[in-house]
Amino acid sequence: MSQHPSQPKVPPNEPSRLAALLAFELLDTPAEAMFDNITALAAQICNTPIALISLVDAERQWFKSRVGLGASETPRELAFCAHAINRDELFEVENALFDPRFSEHPQVNNAPDIRFYAGMPLSDGHGHNLGTLCVIDRQPRQLNEQQRQSLKMLAQQTVQLFELRLQARQQREQAALQQAMLGSAGTAVLVVDPDGLIQQVSPGVTALLGYNAPDLIGRPLDLLLCQDDHQPTKRTSSTSTFHANGQSQLHEVQVRHGAGQSIPVLCNFSPICMEGGSDLGYLCVVHDLSYREEALQRLQRLAAQLPGMVYQFQLFEDGRSCFPYASQGIEMIYGLTPDEVHESASEAFARIYPEDFNSVSASIVESAASLDVWHQEYRVSHPSRGVIWVEGRAAPQRRSDGSILWHGFISDITERKHLERVKNEFVSTVSHELRTPLTSITGSLGLINGGALGAVPDSIKEMLAIAEGNSRRLRQLIDDLLDMDKLIAGKMPFNLQPIKLNDLLAECDASHQGFAHQLDVNLLHTDCPDLFVLADLQRLQQVLSNLLSNALKFSPVHGTVRLYSEFEHDRVRILVSDQGPGIPAEFSARIFEKFSQVDSSDRRKKGGTGLGLAISKELIERMDGSIGFVSDAQNGSIFWVELPLHRVNDAE
Ligand code: ADP
Repeated sequence: MSQHPSQPKVPPNEPSRLAALLAFELLDTPAEAMFDNITALAAQICNTPIALISLVDAERQWFKSRVGLGASETPRELAFCAHAINRDELFEVENALFDPRFSEHPQVNNAPDIRFYAGMPLSDGHGHNLGTLCVIDRQPRQLNEQQRQSLKMLAQQTVQLFELRLQARQQREQAALQQAMLGSAGTAVLVVDPDGLIQQVSPGVTALLGYNAPDLIGRPLDLLLCQDDHQPTKRTSSTSTFHANGQSQLHEVQVRHGAGQSIPVLCNFSPICMEGGSDLGYLCVVHDLSYREEALQRLQRLAAQLPGMVYQFQLFEDGRSCFPYASQGIEMIYGLTPDEVHESASEAFARIYPEDFNSVSASIVESAASLDVWHQEYRVSHPSRGVIWVEGRAAPQRRSDGSILWHGFISDITERKHLERVKNEFVSTVSHELRTPLTSITGSLGLINGGALGAVPDSIKEMLAIAEGNSRRLRQLIDDLLDMDKLIAGKMPFNLQPIKLNDLLAECDASHQGFAHQLDVNLLHTDCPDLFVLADLQRLQQVLSNLLSNALKFSPVHGTVRLYSEFEHDRVRILVSDQGPGIPAEFSARIFEKFSQVDSSDRRKKGGTGLGLAISKELIERMDGSIGFVSDAQNGSIFWVELPLHRVNDAE
């Protein structure tokens, strides 16, 4: 379908033309005198009643300035200007009534009764005709050559004003941004000329440095720097060196505040160069560091109260390490100052007791790999205190540069280690000294009570039975203490071998039937497939015996205790279940600790020392196994141990 001649064509570059128009930010803005002057001039020169600066957007033509016309916009399809923007030259219609494109036009046949139209496109210089500068008359007519030239020049002038207007606006925005940046809290900016004299300052200098602009302008920047009173000559080598090589540089310096005190600041010196390299001086951006200084002092005061050192230790990918922060306490731990380890930790490592060096290094590597908390007890050869024991604990954090940073604490545990050793020696001596005579007392009482020396008179029978029971209990306690002592000292030998599970369970069952019978409790065991566990037979029997005797002791009369096994992949689980009172939740966390019993009256009622489970845990863990339990008050408890499975083929 062919287009009606009155329909204006859409320019081929319409999308970019519209974008260019929008970018000038002119549409729907208030009238401005500079544009109204142009339309007034156009009307006057061309001697027309109407002159317009018309901008053609997607739907309409909108008048940035108008003389002799009431409407502020008209639909685009009715706009003469929409025709004019399709060409780069002046568009003239002498008499619209005789022009087929406009003879039916409502604005020709009605008000404003357009007859004559001359519109010069407003080109942005990139092929975009944004609209027109046009003149309109109600009489048919022509422009003379001079008027046409004037209209063209005024149109060029209009576009130049568009551009200047936009630039002015962008400059205002830029200035506001710069003002906001310069005025930002905690920062001061100084413009310094090549001779080191301050030329301009931002408002921040008053808040940060305590000077008003006139106090500083024209004065040397070096005057602001705090100089060592005894070295006045130092001033000359100050700021001039900070920007000497023409590159930005950061320096932490002390500056003198207007009120007299010195304050720590970070200065960024950046050269100001024109294209072509001529030196205009430099920009000095000053950031306040007093908050950091205060935080550091607060940390130092707090750290001084701690019985050890707080620190950050950093390990880099290339193996280098250092202490970015160490409190003064490092003198007590390593006999070094924080400065001595700030760049390299090697001095501190050199003081680790040689025998402990490998385990400390390995634990650091492990913590770096797993990102688990590092925890280690080790010895340090302190230059003035001799060999001391320390305990370190630190949480690792991976940094973006690939290094690991630990945050931690090291304390002196020499005294604690000494006490532990004394206590352990005491326990082992006392235990050994007691065990021998007690064995003979228990044996003798057993013989007497068994009637080996003749009938025991009724009057002393009961007392002798109590004496025998108590001496057996005392022996049990001493045996437990000795076991614990051996385990702690690492002196308990383990002979790991394949053990046939069925035989082990049957044997444990048989050896506890007497005790079960005595308590009126059923003890059952379940056979299992031919499996072998890898363990020390005697130690495993000791653990199972402890679990079974606990289960029996805490079972109700006529209750049932079961001994059975389960296996999965390469592990075997041996379980002992009972129908007793269960383990209270609040006690669960402590049940494997030494001397812990749910109820201290258990010792009297049920016997036992509270050491059995603690010893069992140590024994099982040293056989590469684990121990645990599930329990509730309704169903009783199930205690279990888990050990590595030994393959039948291997056992054969
Ligand atoms: P003890 O020599 O006192 O039995 P254990 O370390 O073997 O020492 O056990 C510690 C405590 O745990 C017991 O005194 C008891 O309070 C609780 N306990 C252990 N096994 C059971 C169980 N099967 N049922 C209820 N309580 C138990």
